[in-house]
Amino acid sequence: MPRTDDTSLRPARAACARPDSADRSQPGQAGPGDPAACAVCGARGETCCRVEPGGEEFCFPLSPMEWERIRECMGAVLGEKGWFAEEINTDGFLANLRRLFPGCGAALERLFPAYRPHLRLAVDETGACVFLGPEGCRLPREARPYYCRLYPAWVVGGRVTLFTPEHCEVVARGRNVPGLLRELGTTAAEIRLLYGRLRLAWGLDPDEGTPPAQRAATNGRS
Ligand code: SF4
Ligand code: SF4
Repeated sequence: MPRTDDTSLRPARAACARPDSADRSQPGQAGPGDPAACAVCGARGETCCRVEPGGEEFCFPLSPMEWERIRECMGAVLGEKGWFAEEINTDGFLANLRRLFPGCGAALERLFPAYRPHLRLAVDETGACVFLGPEGCRLPREARPYYCRLYPAWVVGGRVTLFTPEHCEVVARGRNVPGLLRELGTTAAEIRLLYGRLRLAWGLDPDEGTPPAQRAATNGRS
C-alpha cells in the first residue's frame, strides 16, 4: 500500500496503490480502472501494490470509513480474515504524515497518538497487498482506499503534484503534472476532489490550503 515515506513529492520506492481513472484496463494485464501504464509496471513486478518487507511501518494508514467500505463491499466475496493489520504510530510514520499534511500537526497527534496502533492494509510474506491478484487490484475502484485511487498524484496547497517513484510507469510516461493527468485519464479537479475526500475521511478540513476558486464539493462517499 502507499507508503508515507514515498511522498516527499520528489521520492522514491514502491508504495502500493493504483490511481483512480476511467476504465481503460487490458484484460489479463491490469485491474479495472487502472491506467494502461500500470500493466507495464505490473509485468515488471514493480507494482506500487507491494511494499518491501520490513517497510510496513510506512504504509499509508486506513481510515475507519475506508475499511468499513471494503468490508461492506467485499465481505461476502473475499471473507474477512486477514485484510487489515495493525501498525504502531512510530516517530518515522508520524514525521511522514506531518510532511504529507502540512499544517495539520495537532489533528495528526489526535488521530495518531505516538506508539498507539493504526490500521493498514495487510500484506503477504512477499510484501504484496492482500487485495493484489494476478490481474491487478481485486477491489472495485470505488472500494479502494483514497490513497490507492490518488497515487501517484497528490495535492499540496490546492495544487496537484506527483510522487516520483523511479519504477512508476505512469510518472515515466507523464513526466509532469499535465502528462500525469493525461496518463491517468483524469483532471486536476477530480484529483483535488478525491484528495478532499481522503482528508474528510480523517476528519480534516477537506479544503484547507485550497484557493477558493479551486474548491470542490467533497461531501458524500464515492
Ligand atoms: S505505474 Fe505507477 S501507479 Fe501504476 S502500478 Fe506502477 S507504480 Fe503503481
Ligand atoms: S487495495 Fe488494491 S490498489 Fe490498493 S494497494 Fe491493495 S491491491 Fe493496490
